[in-house]
Amino acid sequence: MSNSGTLNLSTFRRGVHPDEFKNMSCSSPSRVLPLPDEVFIPLQQHIGAPCESLVKKGDLVKTGQKIADTSAFVSSPIHASITGKVVAVSSFPHPLGGKVPMIHIKRNGDEDDWELLTTPENWENTPPEELQKIVREAGIVGLGGAAFPTHVKMSPPKDKPVDHFILNGCECEPFLTCDHRNMLEETDRVLKGMAIMLKLLDIKQGIIGIETNKADAIAVMEARVQALNLNFKVQPLKVKYPQGAEKMLIDAALGRKVPDGGLPMDVGVVVNNIATALAVYEAVVEGKPLIQRMLTVTGDAITEPGNIIARIGTPFQVCVDACGGLKGETAQVFMGGPMMGLAQYDLNVPTLKATSGIVCLESSQLKKTRHYPCIQCGSCVTVCPMNLVPTRISRLAETAKYDECKDWGVFNCIECGSCAFVCPSGIPLVQWIRVGKVKITEKQNKLKAKA
Ligand code: SF4
Ligand code: SF4
Repeated sequence: MSNSGTLNLSTFRRGVHPDEFKNMSCSSPSRVLPLPDEVFIPLQQHIGAPCESLVKKGDLVKTGQKIADTSAFVSSPIHASITGKVVAVSSFPHPLGGKVPMIHIKRNGDEDDWELLTTPENWENTPPEELQKIVREAGIVGLGGAAFPTHVKMSPPKDKPVDHFILNGCECEPFLTCDHRNMLEETDRVLKGMAIMLKLLDIKQGIIGIETNKADAIAVMEARVQALNLNFKVQPLKVKYPQGAEKMLIDAALGRKVPDGGLPMDVGVVVNNIATALAVYEAVVEGKPLIQRMLTVTGDAITEPGNIIARIGTPFQVCVDACGGLKGETAQVFMGGPMMGLAQYDLNVPTLKATSGIVCLESSQLKKTRHYPCIQCGSCVTVCPMNLVPTRISRLAETAKYDECKDWGVFNCIECGSCAFVCPSGIPLVQWIRVGKVKITEKQNKLKAKA
């Protein structure tokens, strides 16, 4: 079902319009990166319990072989992304900072022997519980950046009935275009992955939310939805950041408001991203565990910006070199985009399941780095999509008034960065908000430990 004939662009309240910088990488087809010589695979790449290694130094592993797992429900197993020898299970630099336990594998010549999952002959006749098991065994997590285990997200409790699934094709973060390319290049497999997800949830209503700056993706998705006779609605959305955040997308596509502190399932919705739907298709139909993904390598400091399909655990440096390397002086590197991404200081860190991009910027594109006092202009309040008062929360965190921070709703902040983006004083609002969250959580954990 298409709605392009009754175009009625919707969006959420507030938000911002940063420069997109998507033209650098959105037009050229993705390239498959040659097999890396070595990969570093962290034992935790997801929200939930970390995995324990199932392999040791000296073991030979196949591509797709499960190499780490845990019995915890909220977790996700890890698989070897190349065929080779485990040379270490040790701590290495991680994109989130510090050193964390990883499995270091060196490639064995040109071999790429796969160990595949057992899949059903026909997923349409397979019970949802069996499909859930495959999604779990494939190690699939939310590939939009959240890395929440997909099998958990697709198992809402019975007291939270879900009636809508939204496929998130917004990709509102500046610079990133890998979801856009996947919609163009992998249209049918993405749509079939979405159909499997509806089957998992045992629901019929599916919406694909795509911002209108991806007109070609809207057109091809609408055409293929019709050709495949799928009962999905392609919903064009106004271009606005952070529309790809779940709560904003649900508001934009369905007009439902997720309550403060609530989850999408509280309003009967599950949201998943384009690359996640593709991963579900590859697992359930092709038996492939999640061992590679498309990511955008871009920015004005990259010689040949583009999208590459890389094995998980590939060092950032290898990805950057595959795109012609850095031009010269690079002021900042982000994992993800500049709004919600994480600054990187070492290109030897590995790509993770949730690495949607590597953005390398020259200083000309950086936001202001000097900070001035707040001038009470109210701009941060005007744009906050969560209806918060960022200036107040930030100030309370800065002055260590953490209880008051909580009263002002610090935990409702989705860290979208819209407030800092518009602040004329260059105040690092999001950093202070994060400090507030960390301090309150530490205090709560101490109280729990004493109880
Ligand atoms: S306070 Fe949080 S949710 Fe509001 S604009 Fe700032 S980062 Fe976004
Ligand atoms: S946008 Fe910046 S200067 Fe304006 S009120 Fe918010 S914190 Fe203060």
